[in-house]
Amino acid sequence: MSLVLHVDGERWRAHLRSVADAHPGLVPVCKGNGYGFTLARLARKSQWLGVDTIAVGTYDELSHVATRFDGSLLVLTPWRPFGAALEVDPALADRVVHTVSRPQDLTDLLARQPDARFVLERMTSMQRHGHGARELWASADSLRAHPRARLEGVALHLPLAQGSHLGEVERLLNDVVAAELDTHTIWVSHLTDHELATLRASYADYEIRPRVGTALWLGDRGALRVTATVLDVHPVERGDSFGYRGRTAPKSGHLLVVSGGTAHGIGLEAPTGDSGIRARAATLARGGLDAVGFVRSPFSIDGKQRLFAEPPHMQASMLFLPSGSHVPEVGDEVDVRVRFTATAFDRVVVE
Ligand SMILES: *Cc1c(COP(=O)(O)O)cnc(C)c1O
Repeated sequence: MSLVLHVDGERWRAHLRSVADAHPGLVPVCKGNGYGFTLARLARKSQWLGVDTIAVGTYDELSHVATRFDGSLLVLTPWRPFGAALEVDPALADRVVHTVSRPQDLTDLLARQPDARFVLERMTSMQRHGHGARELWASADSLRAHPRARLEGVALHLPLAQGSHLGEVERLLNDVVAAELDTHTIWVSHLTDHELATLRASYADYEIRPRVGTALWLGDRGALRVTATVLDVHPVERGDSFGYRGRTAPKSGHLLVVSGGTAHGIGLEAPTGDSGIRARAATLARGGLDAVGFVRSPFSIDGKQRLFAEPPHMQASMLFLPSGSHVPEVGDEVDVRVRFTATAFDRVVVE
């Protein structure tokens, strides 16, 4: 009935353990839809891994993890003097580590909470959030007047690897050293194992803490399988109409109704192959279904990605199976290819 994420529990846990063992100071990132697993499950797994800190994406996510993981909670969205950042449960105040990305926010945060825990974010080539070199000096300067403030390190959010990050990270770390901040901890993302090892060697008096989400939770795809269920099967002849739009079948075959729709994040994929006029004419001549407007779906049957008969519905999708294909039965499972970070599964089953 459902769109299910099946997890091979033993294999998944072995992978998590191996990533944690290979990355001292690991900070598991537990954000968004919990990479498909839910935030609650990731918080419990982080507790099981024995790490001292996890990262959430937003202040609103804190309540999903705080009762399931008992260490420090780094919030990746920078603190601002408005909104959810000002509504942190006082019971969590001592566990939350804020990300501060502008000097004026540091002043504002410390005026409200003089003993706040925080990291200073340094801007990277991502150009998302963070202090410029001169701003880092300004924040370092204003910290000298706040003896109770708890600076927990400097944070760098790097783009996904396109070549090496080392040159950039070294330039940024030189700014950090020059700012004479009272910390020797650097929180980083998206560095390869080799880059981490090189940095640790060149900045031996700094502790480098990698924040990892995708490579941790989704790093062993072989431990994960996504299935939908066949809910109905209807034979159709060429010209029979079906669906919300009263479309007609271009040839005989079967309509398959499977679980999983827009509510789960199932969407249309790009049309198959070449979409130029000549290519379309050629496919049409061959009787290709994409030429009559059918679009590839993420559902596969017998190892073949199948076509949507029409755009996905809220909780189900209609597929078209041309005659000659093996027709599954109601209740059969079919494989689905999804983006885990954008899919809301009905269930996560750890097997
Ligand atoms: C999401 C995020 C990460 C983790 O990214 P992955 O690609 O999932 O490992 C690390 N740092 C920051 C600031 C992030 O927003």
